[in-house]
Amino acid sequence: MTSAPLFRVEPTASPTPDARREEILTAPGFGLYFSDHMISATWTPEREWHDARLHAYGPLSVDPATAVLHYAQEIFEGLKAYAHDDGSIWTFRPEANARRFQRSAERLALPELPVETFVAALDLLVSTDRGWVPRGGETSLYLRPFMFASEVFLGVRPSQHVSFHVISSPAGAYFKSGVRPVSIWLSRDYSRAGAGGTGAAKCGGNYAASLRPQQQAAEHSCEQVVFLDSLEHTWIEELGGMNIFFVHDDGNIVTPPVSGTILDGITRDSLLAIAADMGHKVDERPVSIDEWRDGVSSGRIAEVFACGTAAVITPVGRLAWEDGELNCGEQTGEVTASIRQRLLDIQYGRADDPYGWMHRVVV
Ligand SMILES: *Cc1c(COP(=O)(O)O)cnc(C)c1O
Repeated sequence: MTSAPLFRVEPTASPTPDARREEILTAPGFGLYFSDHMISATWTPEREWHDARLHAYGPLSVDPATAVLHYAQEIFEGLKAYAHDDGSIWTFRPEANARRFQRSAERLALPELPVETFVAALDLLVSTDRGWVPRGGETSLYLRPFMFASEVFLGVRPSQHVSFHVISSPAGAYFKSGVRPVSIWLSRDYSRAGAGGTGAAKCGGNYAASLRPQQQAAEHSCEQVVFLDSLEHTWIEELGGMNIFFVHDDGNIVTPPVSGTILDGITRDSLLAIAADMGHKVDERPVSIDEWRDGVSSGRIAEVFACGTAAVITPVGRLAWEDGELNCGEQTGEVTASIRQRLLDIQYGRADDPYGWMHRVVV
């Protein structure tokens, strides 16, 4: 492992005027606007990680033969910075994202970035662009670290030149007018991941492969897709970018176990801890599509929700497939709402954090 590079700080000569920034922050949406700075670092076999710096946000110059454009050797992460009422700014479990980034890097034959470097990059960007962290409601500054094969070479082998960047984007509340259950399309034509594939890595290629199923969901008036396992087409895996949970009528909470084909979500892991501490029995075990359908029909499954950093928790209202559908609840369930609230209270500093999950960036 290389030692953490120091970041050179090269502030932008033309920051966004305060009035324009404030205007953006009143209705940022998601992924539309970017803060004034970004992080960059480069890796080569000879020099390992070097040229780490914070600089003005702006386009990258990419040769048409850059490897990532052809072979998709790329990984990313997603996490948020939260402003607390006292003005301090915090991230949530950034070391967990750093470790997952390392696991993704290994699978995609990219170099490992030290955990301290990953966290230091986020801290530097967030503290420099603290004015870009929206305040109030469920708003945040979304942080997007990513790494890609930047060697100019069409041969198929791990890139010998790799770029790491972090950009940040103010995000409004995911649910603008209160939490609302989503509809889900059960994909029969496609699987998200296969045994031995890249399902456990957070790589752009997984998302590219989820877009066609997502289009099919939209063609059937559904907002999201849920995937089954690729071998038996029986076991619930997850959505395109969210893990899934089932709340039973006795309060027990069940979620499929992480495996080579299910992404190890940090929200998922956090909710398992929170739910257990709120007195729920939590169970990580395979759930079949029949168990879901029969459980909702019999009342055994009382609530279904999906989770991930962007939406935190999204209740599932409807499951639809080629010749049928199932109503899983028109309103957000009680357990779903209380677990969601508990996690948000920790993230926004309204409750203390017995887990040590919050990481202070700006005092
Ligand atoms: C990122 C992601 C999740 C959610 O992970 P979090 O760490 O909770 O944001 C779930 N599934 C997939 C496929 C993902 O890429």
